[in-house]
Amino acid sequence: MDFFKEKCPVCNQILKVKNNPSCKSIIIKSCPEDHYEKEFHPAFETYIECHKVS
Ligand SMILES: [Zn+2]
Repeated sequence: MDFFKEKCPVCNQILKVKNNPSCKSIIIKSCPEDHYEKEFHPAFETYIECHKVS
């Protein structure tokens, strides 16, 4: 899995890690312009993709 090199499918910028103080077991990466967001769940070794429509 190439999770840490993911890019936004809309603008092709590298996704940035978001602070997620409410749930430290989940890593959220998002496009700097908020087109796209990904939640990584290390406990389940999986991730959820979210496409944002603005
Ligand atoms: Zn983007």
